[in-house]
Amino acid sequence: MQEKGALTSFSNEFRDRAMEYRYRVSSRSETVQQLRVSLLVSAVIFALLIVLDYRLVGMNLNFYALVGLRTIAILACLALIVALSRSPKLADRSTLLNIVCFIMVTAMILVIPLRPVTESSQLTAAVILSFAIYLFFPNRIAWVVALNVYLAVGFLLALIFWSTVSSSMIFGAAMVLLFQNAVGLVILRRLSALQRRQFALLAMERQTNKLMQQEIESRKDLEAQLRQQAQKDHLTGLNNRRWFLELAEQELRHCRRRQEPLSLCMVDLDHFKTVNDRFGHAVGDRVLVQIAGLCQEVLRDSDIIGRYGGEEFVLALPGTDANAAFEVAERLRLRILHFTFLELPEPLQLSITAGIAEVTAEDEDPGSALERADLALYAGKARGRNTVILENELQNEHGNRRQAQSRKI
Ligand code: GH3
Ligand code: MG
Ligand code: MG
Repeated sequence: MQEKGALTSFSNEFRDRAMEYRYRVSSRSETVQQLRVSLLVSAVIFALLIVLDYRLVGMNLNFYALVGLRTIAILACLALIVALSRSPKLADRSTLLNIVCFIMVTAMILVIPLRPVTESSQLTAAVILSFAIYLFFPNRIAWVVALNVYLAVGFLLALIFWSTVSSSMIFGAAMVLLFQNAVGLVILRRLSALQRRQFALLAMERQTNKLMQQEIESRKDLEAQLRQQAQKDHLTGLNNRRWFLELAEQELRHCRRRQEPLSLCMVDLDHFKTVNDRFGHAVGDRVLVQIAGLCQEVLRDSDIIGRYGGEEFVLALPGTDANAAFEVAERLRLRILHFTFLELPEPLQLSITAGIAEVTAEDEDPGSALERADLALYAGKARGRNTVILENELQNEHGNRRQAQSRKI
Protein backbone atom coordinates (compact mmCIF):
# COMPACT_ATOMS: atom_id res chain seq x y z
CA MET A 1 0.00 0.00 0.00
CA GLN A 2 2.85 2.32 0.90
CA GLU A 3 4.41 1.62 -2.50
CA LYS A 4 1.12 2.05 -4.30
CA GLY A 5 0.71 5.45 -2.64
CA ALA A 6 4.11 6.68 -3.94
CA LEU A 7 3.92 9.82 -6.09
CA THR A 8 5.88 10.86 -9.17
CA SER A 9 8.51 13.50 -8.49
CA PHE A 10 7.29 16.28 -10.77
CA SER A 11 3.56 16.01 -11.26
CA ASN A 12 2.75 14.38 -7.90
CA GLU A 13 0.54 11.76 -9.48
CA PHE A 14 0.45 8.15 -8.30
CA ARG A 15 3.32 6.10 -9.73
CA ASP A 16 0.96 3.16 -9.79
CA ARG A 17 -1.19 3.67 -12.91
CA ALA A 18 -4.08 1.60 -11.60
CA MET A 19 -4.12 3.65 -8.40
CA GLU A 20 -4.01 6.91 -10.39
CA TYR A 21 -6.93 5.65 -12.49
CA ARG A 22 -8.91 4.72 -9.37
CA TYR A 23 -8.18 8.16 -7.91
CA ARG A 24 -9.41 9.88 -11.07
CA VAL A 25 -12.55 7.78 -11.22
CA SER A 26 -13.31 8.41 -7.55
CA SER A 27 -12.90 12.17 -7.93
CA ARG A 28 -14.56 12.38 -11.33
CA SER A 29 -17.90 13.80 -10.24
CA GLU A 30 -16.15 16.47 -8.17
CA THR A 31 -13.83 17.28 -11.09
CA VAL A 32 -16.75 17.59 -13.51
CA GLN A 33 -18.59 19.85 -11.10
CA GLN A 34 -15.55 22.09 -10.63
CA LEU A 35 -14.90 22.23 -14.37
CA ARG A 36 -18.52 23.18 -15.10
CA VAL A 37 -18.46 26.04 -12.60
CA SER A 38 -15.05 27.30 -13.81
CA LEU A 39 -16.11 27.18 -17.47
CA LEU A 40 -19.38 28.97 -16.72
CA VAL A 41 -17.60 31.71 -14.74
CA SER A 42 -15.04 32.07 -17.58
CA ALA A 43 -17.83 32.40 -20.14
CA VAL A 44 -19.51 35.10 -18.04
CA ILE A 45 -16.22 36.98 -17.60
CA PHE A 46 -15.54 36.86 -21.36
CA ALA A 47 -19.06 38.20 -21.98
CA LEU A 48 -18.50 41.05 -19.51
CA LEU A 49 -15.17 41.85 -21.16
CA ILE A 50 -17.08 42.66 -24.37
CA VAL A 51 -18.63 45.58 -22.48
CA LEU A 52 -15.17 46.71 -21.34
CA ASP A 53 -13.85 46.35 -24.92
CA TYR A 54 -16.65 48.60 -26.19
CA ARG A 55 -15.88 51.25 -23.60
CA LEU A 56 -12.14 51.13 -24.35
CA VAL A 57 -12.08 50.95 -28.15
CA GLY A 58 -15.57 52.06 -29.19
CA MET A 59 -17.46 50.69 -32.17
CA ASN A 60 -14.86 49.89 -34.82
CA LEU A 61 -13.19 46.97 -36.60
CA ASN A 62 -11.00 46.18 -33.61
CA PHE A 63 -14.11 45.93 -31.45
CA TYR A 64 -15.70 43.45 -33.87
CA ALA A 65 -12.50 41.41 -33.86
CA LEU A 66 -12.50 41.47 -30.03
CA VAL A 67 -16.17 40.41 -29.95
CA GLY A 68 -15.27 37.59 -32.35
CA LEU A 69 -12.44 36.43 -30.07
CA ARG A 70 -14.56 36.63 -26.91
CA THR A 71 -17.43 34.81 -28.62
CA ILE A 72 -15.17 31.94 -29.71
CA ALA A 73 -13.89 31.62 -26.12
CA ILE A 74 -17.45 31.73 -24.70
CA LEU A 75 -18.68 29.12 -27.18
CA ALA A 76 -15.70 26.87 -26.43
CA CYS A 77 -16.52 27.06 -22.68
CA LEU A 78 -20.22 26.36 -23.23
CA ALA A 79 -19.48 23.50 -25.66
CA LEU A 80 -17.28 21.81 -23.08
CA ILE A 81 -19.97 22.25 -20.38
CA VAL A 82 -22.48 20.52 -22.66
CA ALA A 83 -20.00 17.77 -23.59
CA LEU A 84 -19.26 17.13 -19.90
CA SER A 85 -22.96 16.88 -19.06
CA ARG A 86 -23.38 14.29 -21.79
CA SER A 87 -20.26 12.31 -20.95
CA PRO A 88 -18.63 13.01 -17.55
CA LYS A 89 -15.86 10.54 -18.53
CA LEU A 90 -14.42 13.32 -20.73
CA ALA A 91 -13.12 14.89 -17.52
CA ASP A 92 -10.57 12.03 -17.32
CA ARG A 93 -9.00 13.10 -20.61
CA SER A 94 -7.29 16.45 -21.10
CA THR A 95 -7.77 16.91 -24.85
CA LEU A 96 -11.01 18.93 -24.90
CA LEU A 97 -10.06 20.98 -21.84
CA ASN A 98 -6.68 21.77 -23.42
CA ILE A 99 -8.37 22.97 -26.60
CA VAL A 100 -10.68 25.25 -24.60
CA CYS A 101 -7.78 26.60 -22.50
CA PHE A 102 -5.71 27.09 -25.67
CA ILE A 103 -8.57 29.13 -27.18
CA MET A 104 -8.91 31.24 -24.00
CA VAL A 105 -5.15 31.90 -23.82
CA THR A 106 -4.96 32.76 -27.53
CA ALA A 107 -7.95 35.09 -27.18
CA MET A 108 -6.20 36.75 -24.24
CA ILE A 109 -2.91 37.21 -26.15
CA LEU A 110 -4.61 38.58 -29.26
CA VAL A 111 -6.28 41.32 -27.22
CA ILE A 112 -2.90 43.10 -27.08
CA PRO A 113 -2.78 44.16 -30.77
CA LEU A 114 -6.53 44.79 -30.84
CA ARG A 115 -6.79 46.89 -27.69
CA PRO A 116 -3.54 48.89 -27.46
CA VAL A 117 -2.54 51.11 -24.53
CA THR A 118 -4.19 48.83 -21.93
CA GLU A 119 -1.12 46.66 -21.32
CA SER A 120 -1.07 46.94 -17.53
CA SER A 121 -4.67 45.70 -17.21
CA GLN A 122 -3.76 42.98 -19.74
CA LEU A 123 -1.00 41.81 -17.41
CA THR A 124 -3.50 41.53 -14.54
CA ALA A 125 -5.84 39.56 -16.80
CA ALA A 126 -2.97 37.26 -17.85
CA VAL A 127 -2.06 36.61 -14.20
CA ILE A 128 -5.70 35.85 -13.32
CA LEU A 129 -6.10 33.53 -16.32
CA SER A 130 -2.84 31.79 -15.40
CA PHE A 131 -3.98 31.19 -11.81
CA ALA A 132 -7.31 29.96 -13.12
CA ILE A 133 -5.48 27.40 -15.30
CA TYR A 134 -3.41 26.32 -12.27
CA LEU A 135 -6.22 26.15 -9.74
CA PHE A 136 -9.69 26.06 -11.26
CA PHE A 137 -9.39 23.81 -14.31
CA PRO A 138 -8.51 20.31 -13.05
CA ASN A 139 -5.88 19.02 -15.49
CA ARG A 140 -2.61 17.05 -15.60
CA ILE A 141 0.25 19.15 -14.24
CA ALA A 142 2.32 18.75 -17.44
CA TRP A 143 -0.54 20.23 -19.51
CA VAL A 144 -1.08 23.03 -16.99
CA VAL A 145 2.59 23.97 -17.24
CA ALA A 146 2.53 23.78 -21.06
CA LEU A 147 -0.54 26.04 -21.24
CA ASN A 148 1.04 28.54 -18.86
CA VAL A 149 4.32 28.58 -20.78
CA TYR A 150 2.30 29.28 -23.92
CA LEU A 151 0.42 32.06 -22.09
CA ALA A 152 3.55 33.71 -20.61
CA VAL A 153 5.71 33.45 -23.74
CA GLY A 154 2.84 34.41 -26.05
CA PHE A 155 1.90 37.35 -23.86
CA LEU A 156 5.48 38.64 -23.67
CA LEU A 157 6.05 38.19 -27.43
CA ALA A 158 2.79 40.03 -28.12
CA LEU A 159 4.01 42.87 -25.90
CA ILE A 160 7.34 42.97 -27.75
CA PHE A 161 5.87 42.90 -31.25
CA TRP A 162 2.55 44.70 -30.94
CA SER A 163 2.73 47.07 -27.99
CA THR A 164 4.54 50.27 -27.41
CA VAL A 165 5.67 49.57 -23.83
CA SER A 166 9.29 49.95 -22.89
CA SER A 167 11.67 47.01 -22.59
CA SER A 168 11.95 47.54 -18.80
CA MET A 169 8.13 47.25 -18.56
CA ILE A 170 8.31 44.01 -20.56
CA PHE A 171 11.07 42.77 -18.26
CA GLY A 172 8.88 43.66 -15.26
CA ALA A 173 5.93 41.77 -16.79
CA ALA A 174 8.20 38.75 -17.36
CA MET A 175 9.26 38.86 -13.70
CA VAL A 176 5.63 39.04 -12.54
CA LEU A 177 4.66 36.13 -14.78
CA LEU A 178 7.68 34.09 -13.67
CA PHE A 179 6.96 34.67 -9.99
CA GLN A 180 3.24 34.01 -10.42
CA ASN A 181 3.91 30.77 -12.34
CA ALA A 182 6.29 29.59 -9.62
CA VAL A 183 3.62 30.23 -6.95
CA GLY A 184 0.91 28.60 -9.10
CA LEU A 185 3.06 25.52 -9.69
CA VAL A 186 3.96 25.11 -6.01
CA ILE A 187 0.32 25.41 -4.95
CA LEU A 188 -0.88 23.00 -7.63
CA ARG A 189 1.78 20.38 -6.76
CA ARG A 190 0.95 20.62 -3.05
CA LEU A 191 -2.74 20.30 -3.77
CA SER A 192 -2.19 17.34 -6.05
CA ALA A 193 -0.01 15.56 -3.45
CA LEU A 194 -2.42 16.35 -0.62
CA GLN A 195 -5.48 15.04 -2.45
CA ARG A 196 -3.69 11.87 -3.51
CA ARG A 197 -2.25 11.19 -0.04
CA GLN A 198 -5.75 11.59 1.38
CA PHE A 199 -7.06 9.18 -1.24
CA ALA A 200 -4.26 6.68 -0.50
CA LEU A 201 -5.01 6.85 3.24
CA LEU A 202 -8.68 6.32 2.61
CA ALA A 203 -7.93 3.37 0.32
CA MET A 204 -5.62 1.92 2.99
CA GLU A 205 -8.30 2.38 5.64
CA ARG A 206 -10.88 0.71 3.40
CA GLN A 207 -8.48 -2.17 2.76
CA THR A 208 -7.85 -2.54 6.51
CA ASN A 209 -11.59 -2.47 7.19
CA LYS A 210 -12.13 -5.11 4.53
CA LEU A 211 -9.44 -7.32 6.05
CA MET A 212 -10.92 -6.79 9.50
CA GLN A 213 -14.36 -7.67 8.19
CA GLN A 214 -12.94 -10.84 6.64
CA GLU A 215 -11.21 -11.65 9.93
CA ILE A 216 -14.47 -11.15 11.83
CA GLU A 217 -16.30 -13.38 9.35
CA SER A 218 -13.70 -16.13 9.58
CA ARG A 219 -13.74 -15.92 13.39
CA LYS A 220 -17.53 -16.18 13.35
CA ASP A 221 -17.22 -19.24 11.10
CA LEU A 222 -14.65 -20.75 13.41
CA GLU A 223 -16.84 -20.02 16.42
CA ALA A 224 -19.80 -21.68 14.70
CA GLN A 225 -17.60 -24.66 13.80
CA LEU A 226 -16.36 -24.96 17.38
CA ARG A 227 -19.90 -24.66 18.70
CA GLN A 228 -20.99 -27.31 16.21
CA GLN A 229 -18.15 -29.57 17.31
CA ALA A 230 -18.96 -29.02 20.98
CA GLN A 231 -22.69 -29.60 20.58
CA LYS A 232 -23.20 -31.95 17.67
CA ASP A 233 -22.31 -35.52 16.94
CA HIS A 234 -19.91 -35.48 14.00
CA LEU A 235 -21.42 -38.53 12.25
CA THR A 236 -25.18 -37.93 12.45
CA GLY A 237 -25.31 -34.20 13.13
CA LEU A 238 -27.64 -34.87 16.07
CA ASN A 239 -26.98 -33.34 19.50
CA ASN A 240 -24.19 -35.13 21.31
CA ARG A 241 -24.80 -36.60 24.75
CA ARG A 242 -23.48 -33.57 26.66
CA TRP A 243 -25.51 -31.06 24.67
CA PHE A 244 -28.60 -33.27 24.73
CA LEU A 245 -28.48 -33.35 28.55
CA GLU A 246 -28.09 -29.57 28.63
CA LEU A 247 -31.07 -29.08 26.30
CA ALA A 248 -33.15 -31.68 28.20
CA GLU A 249 -32.47 -29.83 31.43
CA GLN A 250 -33.61 -26.53 29.88
CA GLU A 251 -36.69 -28.28 28.55
CA LEU A 252 -37.45 -29.75 31.97
CA ARG A 253 -37.43 -26.25 33.47
CA HIS A 254 -39.79 -24.99 30.73
CA CYS A 255 -42.16 -27.94 31.19
CA ARG A 256 -42.27 -27.46 34.95
CA ARG A 257 -43.03 -23.75 34.53
CA ARG A 258 -45.85 -24.60 32.11
CA GLN A 259 -46.88 -27.63 34.20
CA GLU A 260 -46.51 -29.91 31.22
CA PRO A 261 -45.19 -33.47 31.18
CA LEU A 262 -41.77 -34.37 29.78
CA SER A 263 -40.93 -37.91 28.68
CA LEU A 264 -37.56 -39.39 27.86
CA CYS A 265 -36.96 -42.29 25.55
CA MET A 266 -33.79 -44.36 25.15
CA VAL A 267 -33.49 -46.10 21.81
CA ASP A 268 -31.00 -48.88 21.02
CA LEU A 269 -30.59 -50.56 17.62
CA ASP A 270 -31.00 -54.31 17.86
CA HIS A 271 -28.06 -56.50 16.92
CA PHE A 272 -26.30 -53.61 15.29
CA LYS A 273 -22.99 -55.37 15.62
CA THR A 274 -24.16 -57.83 12.95
CA VAL A 275 -24.73 -54.92 10.55
CA ASN A 276 -21.06 -53.99 10.90
CA ASP A 277 -20.07 -57.62 10.65
CA ARG A 278 -22.12 -58.13 7.47
CA PHE A 279 -21.47 -54.89 5.62
CA GLY A 280 -18.48 -53.29 7.28
CA HIS A 281 -18.12 -50.32 9.55
CA ALA A 282 -18.52 -47.67 6.82
CA VAL A 283 -21.91 -49.03 5.80
CA GLY A 284 -22.83 -49.24 9.51
CA ASP A 285 -22.05 -45.53 9.73
CA ARG A 286 -24.32 -44.77 6.78
CA VAL A 287 -27.12 -46.76 8.42
CA LEU A 288 -26.69 -44.74 11.62
CA VAL A 289 -26.98 -41.50 9.62
CA GLN A 290 -30.20 -42.74 8.02
CA ILE A 291 -31.57 -43.77 11.43
CA ALA A 292 -30.87 -40.23 12.66
CA GLY A 293 -32.83 -38.89 9.66
CA LEU A 294 -35.75 -41.19 10.49
CA CYS A 295 -35.78 -39.96 14.11
CA GLN A 296 -35.97 -36.36 12.86
CA GLU A 297 -38.69 -37.30 10.40
CA VAL A 298 -40.91 -39.01 12.98
CA LEU A 299 -40.44 -36.49 15.79
CA ARG A 300 -41.75 -32.94 16.12
CA ASP A 301 -39.47 -29.93 15.77
CA SER A 302 -39.89 -29.18 19.46
CA ASP A 303 -38.64 -32.67 20.42
CA ILE A 304 -34.96 -33.05 21.24
CA ILE A 305 -32.95 -35.87 19.71
CA GLY A 306 -29.44 -36.90 20.75
CA ARG A 307 -26.96 -39.60 19.91
CA TYR A 308 -26.27 -41.01 23.32
CA GLY A 309 -23.59 -43.53 22.41
CA GLY A 310 -22.55 -45.76 19.50
CA GLU A 311 -25.92 -47.06 18.29
CA GLU A 312 -28.00 -45.55 21.07
CA PHE A 313 -30.25 -42.56 20.57
CA VAL A 314 -32.13 -40.57 23.16
CA LEU A 315 -35.27 -38.47 22.82
CA ALA A 316 -36.75 -35.77 25.04
CA LEU A 317 -40.43 -35.18 24.28
CA PRO A 318 -41.79 -32.01 25.88
CA GLY A 319 -45.53 -31.74 26.51
CA THR A 320 -45.79 -35.54 26.14
CA ASP A 321 -46.75 -37.96 28.89
CA ALA A 322 -45.49 -41.56 29.03
CA ASN A 323 -48.44 -43.00 27.07
CA ALA A 324 -48.14 -40.45 24.27
CA ALA A 325 -44.36 -41.02 24.25
CA PHE A 326 -45.06 -44.73 23.85
CA GLU A 327 -47.05 -43.95 20.70
CA VAL A 328 -44.23 -41.81 19.34
CA ALA A 329 -41.62 -44.51 20.04
CA GLU A 330 -43.86 -47.13 18.44
CA ARG A 331 -44.16 -44.96 15.33
CA LEU A 332 -40.38 -44.71 15.21
CA ARG A 333 -39.95 -48.46 15.77
CA LEU A 334 -42.30 -49.28 12.90
CA ARG A 335 -40.79 -46.65 10.61
CA ILE A 336 -37.32 -48.12 11.13
CA LEU A 337 -38.53 -51.70 10.90
CA HIS A 338 -40.10 -51.12 7.50
CA PHE A 339 -37.50 -48.75 6.16
CA THR A 340 -35.51 -49.69 3.07
CA PHE A 341 -31.98 -48.55 3.78
CA LEU A 342 -30.15 -46.89 0.91
CA GLU A 343 -26.69 -47.69 -0.43
CA LEU A 344 -26.60 -51.22 0.98
CA PRO A 345 -25.29 -54.23 -0.98
CA GLU A 346 -28.27 -56.31 0.19
CA PRO A 347 -31.55 -55.54 2.02
CA LEU A 348 -31.45 -55.03 5.74
CA GLN A 349 -34.24 -55.09 8.26
CA LEU A 350 -33.36 -53.31 11.42
CA SER A 351 -35.35 -53.12 14.63
CA ILE A 352 -35.04 -50.99 17.71
CA THR A 353 -35.78 -51.45 21.36
CA ALA A 354 -36.89 -48.40 23.31
CA GLY A 355 -37.44 -47.64 26.98
CA ILE A 356 -39.62 -44.74 28.13
CA ALA A 357 -39.77 -42.82 31.40
CA GLU A 358 -41.78 -39.71 32.25
CA VAL A 359 -40.08 -37.14 34.45
CA THR A 360 -41.74 -36.98 37.88
CA ALA A 361 -41.84 -34.30 40.56
CA GLU A 362 -39.14 -36.23 42.44
CA ASP A 363 -36.66 -36.04 39.55
CA GLU A 364 -34.16 -33.26 40.12
CA ASP A 365 -32.85 -33.49 36.59
CA PRO A 366 -33.50 -35.53 33.46
CA GLY A 367 -30.64 -37.90 34.40
CA SER A 368 -32.65 -40.01 36.86
CA ALA A 369 -35.56 -40.37 34.42
CA LEU A 370 -33.05 -41.37 31.74
CA GLU A 371 -31.73 -44.11 34.01
CA ARG A 372 -35.26 -45.46 34.37
CA ALA A 373 -35.77 -45.30 30.61
CA ASP A 374 -32.51 -47.23 30.26
CA LEU A 375 -33.74 -49.90 32.66
CA ALA A 376 -36.93 -50.21 30.60
CA LEU A 377 -34.79 -50.50 27.47
CA TYR A 378 -32.77 -53.34 28.97
CA ALA A 379 -35.97 -55.06 30.00
CA GLY A 380 -37.06 -54.77 26.37
CA LYS A 381 -33.79 -56.35 25.23
CA ALA A 382 -34.32 -59.14 27.72
CA ARG A 383 -37.78 -59.74 26.31
CA GLY A 384 -36.45 -60.35 22.86
CA ARG A 385 -35.94 -56.81 21.41
CA ASN A 386 -37.99 -54.97 18.71
CA THR A 387 -40.21 -53.48 21.37
CA VAL A 388 -41.09 -50.35 23.33
CA ILE A 389 -41.30 -50.61 27.11
CA LEU A 390 -42.77 -48.07 29.53
CA GLU A 391 -41.06 -47.73 32.88
CA ASN A 392 -44.38 -48.16 34.73
CA GLU A 393 -44.79 -51.51 33.02
CA LEU A 394 -41.67 -52.53 34.94
CA GLN A 395 -43.10 -51.12 38.17
CA ASN A 396 -46.31 -53.09 37.61
CA GLU A 397 -44.23 -56.08 36.80
CA HIS A 398 -42.36 -55.81 40.09
CA GLY A 399 -45.43 -54.84 42.09
CA ASN A 400 -47.92 -57.34 40.73
CA ARG A 401 -45.42 -59.95 39.52
CA ARG A 402 -47.35 -59.76 36.29
CA GLN A 403 -45.79 -60.34 32.92
CA ALA A 404 -45.48 -56.95 31.25
CA GLN A 405 -46.89 -56.63 27.81
CA SER A 406 -44.73 -55.43 24.99
CA ARG A 407 -46.16 -54.80 21.62
CA LYS A 408 -44.47 -56.53 18.75
CA ILE A 409 -44.85 -56.75 15.07
P1 GH3 B 1 -28.11 -55.29 21.03
O1 GH3 B 1 -28.04 -53.83 21.27
O2 GH3 B 1 -29.33 -55.68 20.33
O3 GH3 B 1 -27.90 -56.04 22.30
O4 GH3 B 1 -26.93 -55.70 20.06
P2 GH3 B 1 -25.87 -54.76 19.47
O5 GH3 B 1 -25.04 -55.54 18.53
O6 GH3 B 1 -26.53 -53.59 18.87
O7 GH3 B 1 -25.14 -54.25 20.72
P3 GH3 B 1 -23.64 -54.16 21.13
O8 GH3 B 1 -23.58 -53.18 22.25
O9 GH3 B 1 -23.07 -55.51 21.36
O10 GH3 B 1 -22.90 -53.56 19.90
C1 GH3 B 1 -23.13 -52.28 19.50
C2 GH3 B 1 -22.47 -52.19 18.17
O11 GH3 B 1 -22.65 -50.91 17.61
C3 GH3 B 1 -20.98 -52.41 18.28
C4 GH3 B 1 -20.36 -51.39 17.42
O12 GH3 B 1 -19.59 -51.98 16.41
C5 GH3 B 1 -21.53 -50.67 16.82
N1 GH3 B 1 -21.27 -49.25 16.79
C6 GH3 B 1 -21.22 -48.41 17.82
N2 GH3 B 1 -20.93 -47.15 17.39
C7 GH3 B 1 -20.78 -47.24 16.05
C8 GH3 B 1 -20.49 -46.32 15.02
O13 GH3 B 1 -20.28 -45.11 15.24
N3 GH3 B 1 -20.43 -46.78 13.75
C9 GH3 B 1 -20.66 -48.07 13.45
N4 GH3 B 1 -20.62 -48.44 12.18
N5 GH3 B 1 -20.94 -48.96 14.38
C10 GH3 B 1 -21.01 -48.58 15.67
MG1 MG C 1 -26.03 -50.39 22.62
MG1 MG D 1 -27.70 -52.36 20.10
